Amino acid sequence: MNAHAPLSADKQAVANLLLVDETPDNIEYLSHQLHDHFDINFAGSGRMAIKLLNELPIDVVLINADNQNVDCQLLCSQCDLPVILFTKELYQQVLVDGYLWGAVDVMSSDVTTKEWICRINAHIAIDKLRRIPAKMLTSQNIERAQPSLSASLAHEYERAKVLLVDDSVNNIQVLNEILSKEYEIYFATNGQQAIDMAIELQPDLILLDVVMPRLNGYQVCQQLKSMQETKEIGIIFVTALNDDEDEAKGLELGAIDYITKPFNPHIVRARMHNHMELVQHRKMLSSLSMTDGLTDIANRRHFDQVMHRELHRAIRQQESLALMLIDIDHFKKYNDHYGHVNGDECLKEVAAVLDSCRVRMTDFVARYGGEEFAVILPNTTTEGAQVVADKILKAIEALDIEHINNADFGVVTVSIGVYCSVPLFNSSKEQLLAQADEALYQAKEQGRNRVVFALDQ
Ligand code: GH3
Ligand code: MG
Ligand code: MG
Repeated sequence: MNAHAPLSADKQAVANLLLVDETPDNIEYLSHQLHDHFDINFAGSGRMAIKLLNELPIDVVLINADNQNVDCQLLCSQCDLPVILFTKELYQQVLVDGYLWGAVDVMSSDVTTKEWICRINAHIAIDKLRRIPAKMLTSQNIERAQPSLSASLAHEYERAKVLLVDDSVNNIQVLNEILSKEYEIYFATNGQQAIDMAIELQPDLILLDVVMPRLNGYQVCQQLKSMQETKEIGIIFVTALNDDEDEAKGLELGAIDYITKPFNPHIVRARMHNHMELVQHRKMLSSLSMTDGLTDIANRRHFDQVMHRELHRAIRQQESLALMLIDIDHFKKYNDHYGHVNGDECLKEVAAVLDSCRVRMTDFVARYGGEEFAVILPNTTTEGAQVVADKILKAIEALDIEHINNADFGVVTVSIGVYCSVPLFNSSKEQLLAQADEALYQAKEQGRNRVVFALDQ
């Protein structure tokens, strides 16, 4: 996630902070640190804060938790904005209370300017992300999207995966005890293993130790953020360092948070919970942008991502990968005869059948474009692909959708081109697609309603 705006934000687009503090000295000190980066508004009391929240377009609220006359809990509950509590002494009770009241962050006021800016910007970015689904779901797809999204959200949440990376097995055990009730936990005890596991597992969050032999946490973070297949995974640094510069460094590298050793179970759980919520929001957004609006199956963009991932997996593991392109026969004539609306209905039915023909959890079906679909079958040989292709041909014919202009068949049929191979080290997605496309062309040439395998295998 690219949650952090550059440190030197453009003054034109800066965010509005509301700083709630009854001590003028504190206000002066903090505004001195932050005024180059944000527009700062002050409130010396809770009542004033509520007034300003109603009047001004505030983005983030910063409250001094040491205020005697400000009811932090009430303020947290009354505003629908990210609230950051800060305090001189970061006692455990402040941390626990703060998160329980709904603050997004509880921090020491003694951190560096750089860290203040990083953390405030991170929360602004997170809040923006939180608000997008509501906007998107006001469109016509609200009815269709909402039930399935909330269902998938609940489902995903139960199975959220967390990768713990630490060279000390003892630390892993402690974190495992704190988190294993809520999440599916995986471990890695060195940087390289962490990178390999992140690619394979696609965890929702990684808790990453900073100090490790060979590859340290920062290097691992940098590598994960530079790879397409891992750059979106949330990283939380786990550090025993009390150096603010190091904490800011982690955030600048793209980590979303850090937690310090020794672990306080309440804090670890609260922070994980906050981040997991965000992960689920991001997943929901990306699932909206990855789904084809008409057929409700994966779209071309999603296909490109999965294809990239599966091709690289097949190369690494030297496994056979099958790619199918499926095209509806004489679909232009179908539209011409039955009309576009019926054409759309037909596309939906074909998509649903293709989706139901998947044999394994890892088989993937997408609308590739127009009346063309693509299927990716990981770890599948020619024999396996033949079985799936035959199943698809039969299932589409069995739909029995009348198509009087489809040669001798009389019903809607499809043609399928398959390319199955153990990809070479330098094979590309484009090469695989070109092979499958050539096979599809041959299937059309040979009379349609059939499957043809590319010869080069
Ligand atoms: P072939 O058997 O060789 O594949 O012939 P075809 O007519 O299916 O192929 P062609 O590429 O000539 O035509 C594809 C048709 O698919 C034309 C286009 O209007 C239709 N089509 C593409 N997308 C949609 C869509 O979203 N809805 C509808 N109803 N039709 C679509
Ligand atoms: Mg066609
Ligand atoms: Mg076509």
